[in-house]
Amino acid sequence: MNLEVKNIKKTYGSGERILPALEQINLNVKEGEFVSVIGPSGCGKSTIFNIVSGLDHPDEGQILIDGLDVTGQTGHISYMMQKDLLLPWRTVLDNAILAAEVQGESRKAARARAYELLPAFGLEQFAREYPVKLSGGMRQRAALLRTVMANQDIWLLDEPFGALDAMTRDRMQEWLLEVCRQFRPVVLFITHSIEEAVYLSDRVYVLSDRPARIKDEITIDLARPRHRDMVTQDRFLHFKDLLLQELYQQR
Ligand code: ADP
Repeated sequence: MNLEVKNIKKTYGSGERILPALEQINLNVKEGEFVSVIGPSGCGKSTIFNIVSGLDHPDEGQILIDGLDVTGQTGHISYMMQKDLLLPWRTVLDNAILAAEVQGESRKAARARAYELLPAFGLEQFAREYPVKLSGGMRQRAALLRTVMANQDIWLLDEPFGALDAMTRDRMQEWLLEVCRQFRPVVLFITHSIEEAVYLSDRVYVLSDRPARIKDEITIDLARPRHRDMVTQDRFLHFKDLLLQELYQQR
């Protein structure tokens, strides 16, 4: 399965209050790839994700999955937004099955499926708890479990670890890499952290200030599986430096 974003343009507003958000976005994620998008705050990253997921329409351009035009259509992609959006009145298990239920799967079948996945998400002790009882990391894992339960092969993850403390974030990265090894999704990932982008990704797209365009695309050819020791190695630091330069360079 592969995802292609082709010549996407998007402008908000009209008349004098016009706000160009995306200039011309071309990017792709191939089978089994983990690709990150980094760029300044407010440059248009979430707008790209909203368009890729079909929640928003581009003014121009197309979204292709395996070459098939799915522009403006929802239901092809699992999308995890920045806020975990867990429903406070549903238990972890019932939050996890939400997307599956919306897609028409029976509650019983979806619960059975979610139950099997709980250990991989470190949530087996928390199936019947409500979100208010969970730590930040657990909430994100519950939200990702729901994303996985939607049964799509393409995952859009919009800064899932942005609000976590540094140690929890490191642990969540390890865990995400492990989950990706298990489920082999196509991943498009937004982050503000250069180090996180290098550590997780096969490739990174760097966006310009708004209106966003792709400034560069960098292949991170570090070996997999990734290890924490890598972050101090020369090759890792080289990629960090490269991304830092790209990000802060003028248009
Ligand atoms: P990022 O995710 O990179 O922080 P966003 O995609 O959320 O950026 O937003 C890009 C720009 O588009 C921002 O200036 C934002 O205010 C604007 N924007 C986003 N959504 C809308 C909308 N629905 N209507 C008007 N402006 C919007």
